[in-house]
Amino acid sequence: MSIMSGKLFVVSGPSGAGKGTLLAQVIPGLGNIHVAVSVTTRQPRLGEIDGVDYFFFDDCQFDEQIASGGLLEWAAIHQARYGTLRSEVLDAHAQGLDVVLEIDPQGARQVKAAFPEAVLIFIEPPSIEELRRRLYERGTESEAAIEERIKTAVKELETKPEYDKVILNDDLEAAAQELSLYMQGIVD
Ligand code: 5GP
Repeated sequence: MSIMSGKLFVVSGPSGAGKGTLLAQVIPGLGNIHVAVSVTTRQPRLGEIDGVDYFFFDDCQFDEQIASGGLLEWAAIHQARYGTLRSEVLDAHAQGLDVVLEIDPQGARQVKAAFPEAVLIFIEPPSIEELRRRLYERGTESEAAIEERIKTAVKELETKPEYDKVILNDDLEAAAQELSLYMQGIVD
């Protein structure tokens, strides 16, 4: 276990629950916080930028990171692997910044084991039907990929009790407000 200078937030929730949108809305108002860029072996989607949205690694590079202990956590999700570089957290903390990880429940569990002081936040979609609607509307995945994400979402929802805070994202403004106040320690 390590003594951390900054806070470590973990934000999870099913694909389409609105984690990214919520964080994009809340983070600018918080200041002094770094959203960690994850490593993934999946292909970039249209418009995604290497080093901004993810660090896009091939399997070999990912294996090297695992072998050298460069990853704080990692998980296999939908035929790809995703992980958090230890350096993303340590470098930000060294600069006095808090850190947010946008990762799945398998990763969240690993982070909590390594850093018990990490604050785990779960973004809950209003319903599975609404999640499906949002994924189709986003249009970045095939029908098969969407249905696979829905199955994963059902499993992920079962991990809610492991989180310190659950935020229902049914109204974006209200959810953003709640997330912001919680991350600032203003509300429990
Ligand atoms: P997407 O492919 O839609 O960008 O992400 C798929 C899933 O991977 C999401 O649930 C996201 O939270 C998760 N994910 C993204 N980065 C990481 C990571 O570094 N570690 C883990 N464990 N999950 C991640």
